[in-house]
Amino acid sequence: MSLGWKFFLTYVVVAGIALLVLAISTAFVAPQTFSDHMRSMGHMQGSMMSQGPRGQQIQVLDEELDASFRESVNSALLRAGIAAILAAGVTSWIVTQWIMHPLRTIADASQQIAEGHYEQRITRTSRDELGEMVDSFNQMAASLAGTEAMRQQLIADVSHELKTPLASIKGYMEGLQDGVIPATPETYQLVHREADRLQRLVHDLQELSRAESGAVPLTIQRHAPAEIVNRVAVRLQPQFADKDVTLTVDLLPDTPLVCADADRIEQVLTNLLGNALQYTPEGGTVTVSARMAGDVVEIAVRDTGVGLEPDDLTRIFQRFYRVDKSRSRASGGSGIGLTIARHIVEAHGGSIWAESPGHDQGSTFYFTLPTT
Ligand code: ADP
Repeated sequence: MSLGWKFFLTYVVVAGIALLVLAISTAFVAPQTFSDHMRSMGHMQGSMMSQGPRGQQIQVLDEELDASFRESVNSALLRAGIAAILAAGVTSWIVTQWIMHPLRTIADASQQIAEGHYEQRITRTSRDELGEMVDSFNQMAASLAGTEAMRQQLIADVSHELKTPLASIKGYMEGLQDGVIPATPETYQLVHREADRLQRLVHDLQELSRAESGAVPLTIQRHAPAEIVNRVAVRLQPQFADKDVTLTVDLLPDTPLVCADADRIEQVLTNLLGNALQYTPEGGTVTVSARMAGDVVEIAVRDTGVGLEPDDLTRIFQRFYRVDKSRSRASGGSGIGLTIARHIVEAHGGSIWAESPGHDQGSTFYFTLPTT
């Protein structure tokens, strides 16, 4: 049943009940009042005139008046009933139009969104609940548009990332087939390196998708920050030594315990220290420190490397963002590591950011972890 009919029936039922009450009250109360009134008039007349034919005439008149009163009340009720039904029809039509207009607009806009027109928005015309519904609809449309834009960007980024190593592998293979490139161990090593980069990219993408969907379960326990930092530092020490970059861990023994998933925080530190090593030239220094900042522990990874421009400080946490695309790609970076790190830190309730005085002046990456 349509909304219009429902309104109409509601009004008809209300009008019907009102008429019924009126009819019952006129049927029981009004005749009694009317007869009492007539009787008192009869008394007055009786005092003036005696019984006899005149008295009988008055009684007949009395009955006729009673019948005519009932008839006129019934006819008035019938007319009132018809008028009530007409009024119910007109009112329900007006109210239906009034409510249906925004509802139809929302239904049309939803249809448009379902067909992929995510830019669809509705203008709010009232301050009532329907207006609030329009606002909620617009919010939903905006968030769908954002998700769709991210999805398209992701597809574009992933295809772009896959294209380069694939084109490279294809080029080497064609060169080998045509005999233009010699089949030396170096050539195979180059192909292997490209395949390796593809494998790492796919692994990073899987990690990113898990992190972004919140599908990374955290096993939160209390840990000493030094314990986590030292484990990562010991593991990466040989790579730092290879590149002649000094890795220093500068942690106070009384730094409070943090509530964290140790494996995940090691992943964050591995990424930050890996980047610091990658973007710090030979002879440089990378220092890891931790301090209490309010009610959180702040861990910092400071390097004396290439540094970052102010514009890049926030962008580097967006996926696939690389400051120097060619250099980063050559060294295997996909621009995903910091995005994953941000998701992990935020899942712990902390925050991550970077600071740098500028190009070639080193940079510091900070992240916080809760202590309770
Ligand atoms: P990648 O795998 O490319 O290193 P990340 O997400 O880890 O991806 O880093 C994104 C970009 O941020 C890097 O490509 C690099 O340009 C910049 N970056 C990260 N760490 C540093 C650092 N310590 N010093 C200078 N630039 C950095």
